[in-house]
Amino acid sequence: MTNDELVIGGPTGLLTGLLLHRLGVSVSILDAKPQSLDLGRADALNARTQQYLTVVGILDELLPLGLKCNTSSTFGDGDFISRQNNWWVSLEHTLHKNFLMIGQPVVEQILSNRLDGLVHYGEQVEMLLETDDFVEVVTKGGRTVRAKYALGADGARSTVRAAIGATFTGTKPEMRWAVLDTFINTNFPRCPEIITFQLNGQSRVSWIPRERGLCRFYVLLDGEVTQERAEESIKKHLAPYRTEFVKTEWYSTFDVKERIASTFISRDGAGRVFLAGDAAHVHSVNGGQGLNTGIADAFSLAWRLALVINKASRLNKGAVRNLLQSYDIERRQTAQGVIDVAAALVRDTVHTAKQYVGTIEKNAGYITGMGVAYDGMGSPAVQESGHGVWRAGKRCPDVILSKPEVDGDIWLYSQVTYGKFLILAIGDHPEQVLAHEDVAVLFNILPSSANAEGVATSKARTFTADWAEPKEAFAVLVRPDMYIGYVGADIESCQRYLDRLFIR
Ligand SMILES: Cc1cc2nc3c(=O)[nH]c(=O)nc-3n(C[C@H](O)[C@H](O)[C@H](O)COP(=O)(O)OP(=O)(O)OC[C@H]3O[C@@H](n4cnc5c(N)ncnc54)[C@H](O)[C@@H]3O)c2cc1C
Repeated sequence: MTNDELVIGGPTGLLTGLLLHRLGVSVSILDAKPQSLDLGRADALNARTQQYLTVVGILDELLPLGLKCNTSSTFGDGDFISRQNNWWVSLEHTLHKNFLMIGQPVVEQILSNRLDGLVHYGEQVEMLLETDDFVEVVTKGGRTVRAKYALGADGARSTVRAAIGATFTGTKPEMRWAVLDTFINTNFPRCPEIITFQLNGQSRVSWIPRERGLCRFYVLLDGEVTQERAEESIKKHLAPYRTEFVKTEWYSTFDVKERIASTFISRDGAGRVFLAGDAAHVHSVNGGQGLNTGIADAFSLAWRLALVINKASRLNKGAVRNLLQSYDIERRQTAQGVIDVAAALVRDTVHTAKQYVGTIEKNAGYITGMGVAYDGMGSPAVQESGHGVWRAGKRCPDVILSKPEVDGDIWLYSQVTYGKFLILAIGDHPEQVLAHEDVAVLFNILPSSANAEGVATSKARTFTADWAEPKEAFAVLVRPDMYIGYVGADIESCQRYLDRLFIR
């Protein structure tokens, strides 16, 4: 029997486990499958996920292995009908304005490598017991783990979800897709674009460009779904160009289901067991939001859980509940939005390619991940306030900073380490000591005209920025998940946000 915090599941669980481990929480990760995923599943990391993985420090390892893609085209009657990428190129305050096409196995392997020794494959959880003081699970192989908290990221058929009695309701449109990861020989004008093919007024085939020259095809078929019929359909949609299938690495089918768990926290929000990823929400793969939403759940949960575990004696009465409940409030409403967008997209596959791409454009905030926001949800972790682009509940802009001793641009996200609140003191502020130094860091961001060398204080880091106005001073409280919690006039007002959580 061990006493670690417990994480059950795949990529969502691996990232949560890695973040907790880095924050000093002792974790055990159990996964029923015999080894890290070897083929298939998710194929794209969106812009917000790339920002998260920048903060985690693994994006640099993924970038050379993936393929950048920011264009959706439509093809029909032997020619390209349209090409559009405005929802990517118009993104502001982010370095990566594209999908990174990369297989889920690569992402899982990199996460798993960094958790060397903490991931136990071949451990299928069969029983979960939650008491007032602990959670205990027993696996099929007889391993027992007792923990203060547990995360069920054990996929769509979640054992953990069933054990905590959460319902998983929704709709199931009768749509069955074939999916292929394949290498093809073709005289089709290849391009690194997501191509929606139109035939007879419908859009039943999509071609997703991938790393290593791999091609991912999604094919909607009526009647029997087989690899042979899927390949025939692809050939027809790519005509008049010739297509030969050279080697198919992965073939699978999936039935669309749109479901959400009734709660993401056991005991109606007051318990010790959390749900994340596909265990909490499932939807069609259109828009590529599944893995991305799981990663966002992990990024949203780990800092909260680490604070509750590591800083129990520093937290005010009621702060634990507020912190944890805000996970449920923010991520469950977001998951419902994700489901609605994927539902609209999958139903548009029986309409024209123009309509399908129009729906992508309308819902680009979810597909890029950059429009997901937590304002107006009633979250206790968001105090409605704002100044220009800095708005409580919105993603923190990834802005460009400078330092006299550094040549070139410094992106804010590249300077952040996951786990602490960030106070951005923008403009000229009097020097101030942070009351919550163990949980927050201060970045002074001065107008370019200021002398950054002269004002560096003992603990704060100081930058300049050409967008910081000389006569304008304000302060931004950024949560560890890189969402803005509060915007105020000065550093002290941000400290008051932290006072609601922590004892000074
Ligand atoms: C064909 C296809 C294409 C997709 N394309 C995309 C895409 O382009 N973009 C995107 O973002 N998403 C995509 N997805 C969705 C994506 O794969 C999932 O959303 C993602 O895998 C969810 O991750 P997860 O960690 O929540 O769950 P999973 O990946 O399902 O992992 C759950 C893990 O829990 C383990 N497990 C299950 N039960 C137990 C148990 N009782 N005890 C211990 N371990 C258990 C399993 O072994 C598994 O490893 C696609 C999915 C499919 C099938």
